[in-house]
Amino acid sequence: MSETNFVLTDCHVATMLPGCDAYGAIVDGAIAIREGRIAWTGPGADLPTRLRDEATVLRLDGRWITPALIDPHTHLVFAGTRTREFEARRKGASYAEIAAAGGGILSTVRATRDASEDELVALAAARLELLARDGAGLVEIKSGYGLDQETEFKMLRAARSAGVKANVRVRTTYLGLHALPEEWRDDRSGYVTTVCEDVLPALAAARLADSVDAFCEAGAFTPDEVARFFDAARRLGFKTKLHADQLSDGGGAALAARYGALSADHIEYTSEAGVAAMAAAGTVAVLLPGAYYTLRETQCPPVAALRAASVPIALASDLNPGTSPITSLLTILNMGVTLFGLSPEEALAGLTREAARALGMQTETGTLEAGKRADIAVWDIDHPAELSYWLGRRLCHRRFLGDGPYQ
Ligand SMILES: [Zn+2]
Repeated sequence: MSETNFVLTDCHVATMLPGCDAYGAIVDGAIAIREGRIAWTGPGADLPTRLRDEATVLRLDGRWITPALIDPHTHLVFAGTRTREFEARRKGASYAEIAAAGGGILSTVRATRDASEDELVALAAARLELLARDGAGLVEIKSGYGLDQETEFKMLRAARSAGVKANVRVRTTYLGLHALPEEWRDDRSGYVTTVCEDVLPALAAARLADSVDAFCEAGAFTPDEVARFFDAARRLGFKTKLHADQLSDGGGAALAARYGALSADHIEYTSEAGVAAMAAAGTVAVLLPGAYYTLRETQCPPVAALRAASVPIALASDLNPGTSPITSLLTILNMGVTLFGLSPEEALAGLTREAARALGMQTETGTLEAGKRADIAVWDIDHPAELSYWLGRRLCHRRFLGDGPYQ
């Protein structure tokens, strides 16, 4: 018996390995964990005796296990809510009217600048705990509600502290080009310059972010501005991600692919050429049905073209106060299936295997196989499709997270 060696038996294992049976399933399986890593998976009858003898055996009473879910796109460090704006929009106010009344992203920027780091940690940890209740083990968190160096760094530190507090692994992303801050309203180019020449080098020195991101859209930042940002980021060794083609086809997905981005996110309006560029670059499509739902959009991402081109498809909550106030990953699974036409297996792969790829973490996590982190969710279900079938049910029985932080 050992404190760090476990064997999970009497369970069905959805390994999510591709090229196997549906869900990579092992019915009546077992899984051995040694010091935070998966040591063995297979049929329970084949479990090597030495692994069983050296471990604490936990019987799971016929439950299913999957990789712990991974949310590869959130903005969950923020202060304040946008409830009043939500109410106004549902009463017919336009986005321009809301912005004129002080709403929109910049209202969250004001609240987040005013909040202390401790307040942000507490708010973010509570949101992470909600995601963990639905089986999340790894969550990406973006900055972008500070838009000045001090607040952006405060957000990134808060994201990591919240992960420790909530027992969820966190990857951080600097969303430098999210919105033009009020103090730079008359000098767009000056803002992009200070982000590239002042903030990015300081960020690299402080090691606060794992990647960088931008919002490429009419009304946000242009492809040329994003290219300046990505050039500077790449010189400093940052990986890139991009909010692309959400509300119009601005060539964002192709731009992301040109920089070898980890992912292009949203992509409702991405063209065939954009999809082909993503396929060639290995850029993951991160679909965000929560924003599509909240904004009552009607243009779906090009799922058939993504499939045909073998672009990996991930899903994410996009948890944010303005366009996706959604704290349930099982709801996102359901939306991926019901709104975007993914199969239940594609959707689950989108929150496990492909979500790991969208974070550049596919060698560490996202499937249940020997050598990977033992990040596991245990579910009270009879079949994996139940995860995207029910809405509003608590299905996660417990999680295991391999010991030690990600590097
Ligand atoms: Zn986003």
